[in-house]
Amino acid sequence: MAASVDASRVDVAVIGAGPCGLAAAIAARAAGLSCVVYDRGALVSGLAGYPTDMTFFSTAERLAIGGVPFLVAEAKPTKRDALAYYRGVASHHALDVRLYETVEALRPVRVDLRAGEPEPAAASARPPQWLVQSVTRAGVRHELAAHAVVVATGYFGRPNRLGVPGESLPHVRHGYVDAHEAWGQRVVIVGGANSAVDAALAMHRVGAQVTLVHFAEGLDANVKPWVRPGIEARLKEGVIGAHFGSRVVEITTTAVVVEGPGGRTAVPASQVYTMTGYLPETGLLEAVGVPIDATTGIPAHDPDTMATPLAGLYLAGVIASGNQANRIFIENGRDHGTAIARHLTRTHP
Ligand SMILES: Cc1cc2nc3c(=O)[nH]c(=O)nc-3n(C[C@H](O)[C@H](O)[C@H](O)COP(=O)(O)OP(=O)(O)OC[C@H]3O[C@@H](n4cnc5c(N)ncnc54)[C@H](O)[C@@H]3O)c2cc1C
Repeated sequence: MAASVDASRVDVAVIGAGPCGLAAAIAARAAGLSCVVYDRGALVSGLAGYPTDMTFFSTAERLAIGGVPFLVAEAKPTKRDALAYYRGVASHHALDVRLYETVEALRPVRVDLRAGEPEPAAASARPPQWLVQSVTRAGVRHELAAHAVVVATGYFGRPNRLGVPGESLPHVRHGYVDAHEAWGQRVVIVGGANSAVDAALAMHRVGAQVTLVHFAEGLDANVKPWVRPGIEARLKEGVIGAHFGSRVVEITTTAVVVEGPGGRTAVPASQVYTMTGYLPETGLLEAVGVPIDATTGIPAHDPDTMATPLAGLYLAGVIASGNQANRIFIENGRDHGTAIARHLTRTHP
């Protein structure tokens, strides 16, 4: 049902303060549009959840946004470099970022602003089309009327699940921040791409007994070239175990049961990491009726403008990538905001 406007107003509301959401907010501001950014967590919270010692595969200039140079001393930036950089970008552009505030719902707006009703919070001349309903972590609810909404909710909140019994046991995690936690543990890591390989090496280094389980016949082809020799050497030496061509069928309190070329095996495990990637968080889009392609998982949108079929509703970042979530990343999602701002100023100059 359409909502009437009884809230503060803004030209653009961006949902998600990841790198691509921030870039979209900066592009909107550069086009003369007022803008608010929401995040249910910290600034770039997805990156904050990376492992402590993580190094990007991208060079710094390919992660840079908003015209702010990203300089690092080494060839590739680290997690710490990136967190400092994006904090600096948000401060430099004085973005209105509302952290720890979750957007729960979007509602199309019925424009019936009457004389005497509250004036826009920001200098907004554009008619509101969406009502953004949010809640702070303290439980306080807010509503904001926006001419346009950019959904940049990313993928970190929706890990790719195995769908096997035992996946919700307390010793099973989808990711980690510090490998230290694996010291002295028998660890099974599910996956064979970069995150799984980084985890295997890091946990091996801190003194865990590590076994990789991957459905493919070997490591993923995209494993970073500077990391591959290290993992291959550890696998050859046998200090990191591996079950390739194997699928997890169950996780118990003491083992990961895998089915592979040799039949069914129980691999002992006191800690299990499912490093199996993520799927874009499309819940807000689905709730307002944006069609999601049944095969690709891609929300309906025009890739030139990032506009969905619903007026004033846009996508930015990895949310647009569908089931193949690695199709869009910071390098190629950071420009979505420019396309959106161009479209917005063209449709409502
Ligand atoms: C280990 C690892 C290494 C990587 N290395 C690279 C690399 O080298 N180069 C590269 O380009 N990419 C890399 N990536 C991918 C990159 O992290 C993602 O592509 C990028 O974070 C996508 O940015 P985004 O802004 O689209 O979404 P995200 O970074 O996922 O941000 C989305 C934000 O939306 C917020 N949010 C979600 N729902 C709501 C809601 N309802 N209300 C409010 N806030 C909400 C989330 O809290 C989150 O902060 C890597 C990923 C991983 C896991």
